[in-house]
Amino acid sequence: MPPDVPTLVEGIRAGRRAAVSQAITLVESSRPQHRALARELLTELAEVSGGREVVRVGISGVPGVGKSTFIEALGSRLTAAGHRVGVLAVDPSSVRTGGSVLGDKTRMGRLASDPRAFIRPSPSAGTLGGVARATVQAMAVLEAAAYDVVLVETVGVGQSEVTVAGMVDTFLFLTLARTGDQLQGIKKGILEIADVIAVNKADGDREGEARVAARDLAGALRLVRGMEEWAPPVVTCSGLTDVGVDDLWERVLAHREHLGTDGLARKRAEQQLDFTWAMVRDELEQRLRHSPAVRAVRDDVRAAVLAGELPATVAADRVLAAYDEGRTSGE
Ligand code: GDP
Repeated sequence: MPPDVPTLVEGIRAGRRAAVSQAITLVESSRPQHRALARELLTELAEVSGGREVVRVGISGVPGVGKSTFIEALGSRLTAAGHRVGVLAVDPSSVRTGGSVLGDKTRMGRLASDPRAFIRPSPSAGTLGGVARATVQAMAVLEAAAYDVVLVETVGVGQSEVTVAGMVDTFLFLTLARTGDQLQGIKKGILEIADVIAVNKADGDREGEARVAARDLAGALRLVRGMEEWAPPVVTCSGLTDVGVDDLWERVLAHREHLGTDGLARKRAEQQLDFTWAMVRDELEQRLRHSPAVRAVRDDVRAAVLAGELPATVAADRVLAAYDEGRTSGE
């Protein structure tokens, strides 16, 4: 039984961890009565958190690139400088398998025990859309609890990077030293959405290699991005030795500076609009999937399409017609 909304709001305002944690559990829930409470909570919180200077940063990279090590290094520096840091994760593997590429809370042990940090693993809310909704709402909870830096971690799988880029101010891509042909292995899509790029693990023997890779990557980036107003910087860093971590953060802040107050407000407003439609699409897909009328025709449609008896267009019309009929008959 979740606590009542006024108690939660009070606890969140006071920055109490238990309240923040309960509130995030509430917004992650897909049960209808929890969804209603979550809406009520977020409406109340929207009034509390308005206008705060929060820095929202997405951090992406393949498993093993050093994301958790880097986030721990960066997060610890930020809390030492007086910030309150929230870390959220969007992990598509948790959606499909219930397992997780990003692992659980046992990672980032130092940051996890830091009273100025709050780490929450990825929700496994059924679909990427569901995870995204839960994460955006968790972000609102953290911001209302005066966490002024929110880091959203994700892995380079499927749509998750684009999803995260759509909820943050600055998107940071971590990669490892690659040169020449290896650069091809970096998805072009990621180079299109990254605001800052870092070649990580630039320590020990790998430092020189990382610098060369950063230069090559900067060249590749110019080809992909052309003459945009913001040329994403490519730097080197090491989450292990902390070298370059401060510089990287400066680049993140420089990107915000580049956006400016109005630009940032516009970006966030557009993200809200995109997100609105993403949630509508996700919700419609869920309704379609769970509609008893659609379920009733699904097996027949499947068999007919597989047997080559029903063209896809006709099959799609039949499914949609069943859905509409189900709705009008009050299901
Ligand atoms: P994640 O899967 O992206 O979160 O990567 P982890 O942070 O778990 O790191 C994966 C492995 O790389 C671990 O064995 C880390 O100790 C190592 N590692 C992480 N960051 C660095 C770094 O900056 N330099 C070096 N040399 N190793 C690192």
